[in-house]
Amino acid sequence: MPTSPTRQGDRSALKPISNSAPQVPPQWSDWRWQLREAVRSPSDLLRGGWIEREAYQDFQALTAQFKTLITPYYLSLIDRQDPDCPIQKQAIPSLAELRAHPGERADPIGDQAHSPTSIIVHRYPDRALLFPTFECPMFCRYCFRKEALNDQPIKLHQALPDSLSYLRGHPEIKEVILSGGDPLMLSTPKLSSLIAQLIEVGIQRLRIHSRMPVTLPQRIDDELSQALGQAQRSLTITLITHFNHPKEISAEVVIAAQRLRAAGLILLNQSVLLRGVNDDPHTLRELSYGLSRLGVIPYYLHHPDLTRGTHHFRRSLSDGLALYRQLRGQLSGYLIPRYVIEIPGGGGKVEVDSGSVQAGERLGEWWFKSPLTQELYHYFDLAHE
Ligand code: SF4
Repeated sequence: MPTSPTRQGDRSALKPISNSAPQVPPQWSDWRWQLREAVRSPSDLLRGGWIEREAYQDFQALTAQFKTLITPYYLSLIDRQDPDCPIQKQAIPSLAELRAHPGERADPIGDQAHSPTSIIVHRYPDRALLFPTFECPMFCRYCFRKEALNDQPIKLHQALPDSLSYLRGHPEIKEVILSGGDPLMLSTPKLSSLIAQLIEVGIQRLRIHSRMPVTLPQRIDDELSQALGQAQRSLTITLITHFNHPKEISAEVVIAAQRLRAAGLILLNQSVLLRGVNDDPHTLRELSYGLSRLGVIPYYLHHPDLTRGTHHFRRSLSDGLALYRQLRGQLSGYLIPRYVIEIPGGGGKVEVDSGSVQAGERLGEWWFKSPLTQELYHYFDLAHE
């Protein structure tokens, strides 16, 4: 547990030195320091004034079930004067997570049904997900893999040989998507070694799914940018990051994005439509504008999955569709993300505003056509419960 007097759970690390300028600790730009000082436990939450003492035991049960970690940096984005702060909702656990709803799932998008090894998901013919870690720079409260992240930690050195053999035996896989967990939780030498091994088995395109540029932009340091720039000479690297709200775009984020662009990476963003965070056209529009200033293309807007303990973040699909159509009338085409939903159980991803998604006869009933098998999947929208 962190012990530094400059811990940020109570925001004491940001002491004003004048009426306008905040003072940050000298280690602020060190990403490892940020992780060491992160809020992780109910005691940390209590000390920081994020939870009430009476709720302490409930939060013990909650954090045992779903991990908690918030860096001082991400905490510093929270506006404590705003009871509806969209940053706080994504980071600070809520007891609503303990309320499971019928129909919610531990494995909402069917990863396990497509897992030939302990760290690979092979759903689409030409690409595969590879999980190098289940650690994250923040455990986002709505995460669709929030139960998997609580599994036993991944021992990459043990799990990798089987997975490399699998990739070698499937030459049709040309693209690997590093996901998890956050792949940038690996040290830079470990990440470089992993990429070198993927190049060696013939992978041509690498995607890195990482929320580091958002929740811990200090991780995008010179060492990492240089390593990625170097690897970029042997395979194409696309970094897909995950901003949900324009307030997440800080001065530190601008520097991180500049470093990634200078390394030659393609930068895309995927957001999740989250009740009380970004479920209005104004916020999504401002997010797209902010991303374009960073040089990041808005790629996907995901409808939330049927993840256990995330009901409080859920909007209905019909609400999401109406909101999306408003957005389409307000933004240039290249600033409009594709609004998509994963078919529960592993049927693949479909665009909501397309012929692959049809409303059923009853309120909340939908039919999805799988892009993988062309089969129809029945879907009942839990937001109508
Ligand atoms: S960083 Fe990504 S994988 Fe980790 S908790 Fe957040 S959304 Fe989930």
